[in-house]
Amino acid sequence: MEIYRIPSFVHIYGKGSIKNPNLDILASNIRDRLPGIGIDIREDIFSYVLSFTLEEEKRKEIVDSLAKRLAGIRVLDPAKNGLNPDPIYGEIDYERRKILNSSSSSIGVFYDGFELVRILCSIIPKEQQNLKHLHMIFTNQLFATWDEDDQRYHTRVSIYGYPSIISIAGIVEAPAKPKEYYLAKQFQGRDQLSLTGIKRGIRGRFIEYDDKRMTGVMKGYIMQSLFYHLTGSPFCKDRSCRLFNAHWQEEVIMAQLGGEYEYCEVHRRIFEEIKEL
Ligand SMILES: [Zn+2]
Repeated sequence: MEIYRIPSFVHIYGKGSIKNPNLDILASNIRDRLPGIGIDIREDIFSYVLSFTLEEEKRKEIVDSLAKRLAGIRVLDPAKNGLNPDPIYGEIDYERRKILNSSSSSIGVFYDGFELVRILCSIIPKEQQNLKHLHMIFTNQLFATWDEDDQRYHTRVSIYGYPSIISIAGIVEAPAKPKEYYLAKQFQGRDQLSLTGIKRGIRGRFIEYDDKRMTGVMKGYIMQSLFYHLTGSPFCKDRSCRLFNAHWQEEVIMAQLGGEYEYCEVHRRIFEEIKEL
């Protein structure tokens, strides 16, 4: 039998700021698979970290420094592998306001995903920075990673690391929509009215903001994050398994909502093995 790194605690971040998916349902989904571990749902990571510091001056210092670091990892141009090392005042101020109001989303701004993981890891309380603790951070923000092959940044749904980050905006923006969408866009135009019409034509075949299927879809992403922790491999080749690494919206829907089963035989067996430990 394989050795699994079973966490003692799973911390899910996003209470209050993430309304859809339903984090309670996602937490009980993990509880069903891993009975006996402690799961808690915390507010967003910044509020959580700031809750340890009561002194006003000190809080301001933490927020200022975080805002500066976040502004510095913005991707300004998706075709350039360089970030924003000298952010201007307005950019830092924008981040400051976002840290203090986590519900706000930021259309058009995105971050380098690996750098974001690094910053978030650095603010997790030291005593929780070990493999007994699995941190899953839900965010409304967009992040992207640099692709060496085509020399540009690509938006991502999730990055599995320490911590794992999952973007609610990313599930809408990152996986490609059906091919008809891009063809129609080319021929019918990109103005808002045309786009709305094109989207109506393929409705249901892609995930939208505040989609009623969001919780169902996110079940697979929290499990990918869990499998990354357990085994180091978050993904599966089976297109019907929730661990399938989907690049198209229709693949997301197939893997998360459409398959005959939730998990393939291999992953079902791992769940069984873990339950018996
Ligand atoms: Zn599988």
